[in-house]
Amino acid sequence: MATTTDTHKLLLDGDWIETGDWVEVRSPYSGDVVGRIAKAGAGEAARAVDAAARVLDSPLPAHERAAILDRVADLLRERHEDMARTICAEAGKPIRTARVEASRAVSTYTFAAVEARKLAGDVIPMAASDAGEGKIAFTLRRPIGVIGAISPFNFPCNLVAHKLAPALAAGCPVVLKPASQTPLSALLLAELEQEAGLPAGWLNVVVGPASEIGDVLVDDERVKLITFTGSSGVGWGLRERAHKKRVNLELGNATPVIVAADAEVPLAAAKVAQNAFSFAGQSCISVQRVYVERSVYDEFVEALVPHVEALKVGDPADEETDVGPVIDEDARTRILDWIRASNGQVLTGGDLDGGLIRPTVIANPSREDEVSCEEVFGPVCTVTAVDSLDDAIELANGTRYGLQAGIFTATLANALAAAQRLEFGGVTVNEAPTFRSDQMPYGGVKDSGNTREGPHYAVREMTEERLVVVELP
Ligand code: NAP
Repeated sequence: MATTTDTHKLLLDGDWIETGDWVEVRSPYSGDVVGRIAKAGAGEAARAVDAAARVLDSPLPAHERAAILDRVADLLRERHEDMARTICAEAGKPIRTARVEASRAVSTYTFAAVEARKLAGDVIPMAASDAGEGKIAFTLRRPIGVIGAISPFNFPCNLVAHKLAPALAAGCPVVLKPASQTPLSALLLAELEQEAGLPAGWLNVVVGPASEIGDVLVDDERVKLITFTGSSGVGWGLRERAHKKRVNLELGNATPVIVAADAEVPLAAAKVAQNAFSFAGQSCISVQRVYVERSVYDEFVEALVPHVEALKVGDPADEETDVGPVIDEDARTRILDWIRASNGQVLTGGDLDGGLIRPTVIANPSREDEVSCEEVFGPVCTVTAVDSLDDAIELANGTRYGLQAGIFTATLANALAAAQRLEFGGVTVNEAPTFRSDQMPYGGVKDSGNTREGPHYAVREMTEERLVVVELP
């Protein structure tokens, strides 16, 4: 069994290989090395694409793909604690939160198995037109081909699962490039897929320099779809370069929440405290900007700050810890710079020894501050008093991002107005926009992306329709 301090090989065409060179993975909390992985370059990436392209000649029937996905879910249940500890070690995610991620990956595989079993095309109502009379027609859903999957550091297990599981459900082989800072969970998933009976070549994992491996995935015409989760700059850059393929992007956000005058303020404050700082704000849908109608602003702030100050900051392996470190020193420096540069008033928070940032709440920053318009991706949230719901919606829409947004209100009319007017891929009502369950269509508009994940939606992206028209005798 792999542990987090082992050395790890790469999975290429069913074999675990070494390359003579290594990538080191360090704990974001202690700086200790928690794993060494064989380092891939362009050569290994090209071999991975060769292996993936070959298996397209021996498709696996849907029932076999579904059975493998179900077995992966079972194995993940058995190895749940092992996976959670791997996520905690490499990402610095608090262990209780890491366990939630591991459980969610079980759901992702389970939903993907369902999709494999029901994957089917449509019957076209041909007699609905003169031209179609006398014919029957239907579509087949065919695997798109080799998929290049690129994943970020922050959900190193479940966001990899959101690519691997639907790809197998769709019948597509994968070349996976996980984040260099957190590849161990992905390698553990690959081990479980192999143990579940996945034949050689269907999954190939290459860990190494992003641009070198990314170039192979962009340039090789046999890779028909790149599924990318990560930052907006990298994602849109890949799409620009890969003209002839589908490039599905799941990108960042600067997640807003509106607290209307009629909201249940204690509930809103508790939800914001929990969802702005979980995993030190390093979720693409961490609450970042809170717009509160002026009549309940003081009440909201007075409820929020004690919740935030009660969060336990520290070692992610400690069962009591709510907020661990951010991923690396560069991220910490940038986040602290943004806090210092803000024109708002810091109500609580700031830095701590040992690479940690205390959960930070900034009141009434200016609209141009980075904390107001860029993605912080750290344990920081802003609270701004607004005069009306219209102002709140206008401010919430005032960034280049559009992944998820939320509103707390007791009024259906407010909730529906927000749902209609917030320019986001998802809107939550009386729940933080950090909420995600794995069957949902999840994805953004504007700079936040161009697709929806969730096994049902991802399988549609990973397949193509082929039309069959039959002349009736
Ligand atoms: P990132 O720096 O963009 O990295 C994401 C992945 O892209 C990593 O595997 C990285 O490899 C790779 N990469 C970097 N440059 C590349 C290039 N030129 N060509 C090909 N691949 C390249 O993002 P991150 O810091 O890991 O993750 C944080 C971001 O992800 C945030 O913006 C967050 O909002 C977003 N995110 C979005 C979602 C969503 O579902 N919408 C979910 C989670 C996170 P290396 O690690 O080797 O550099």
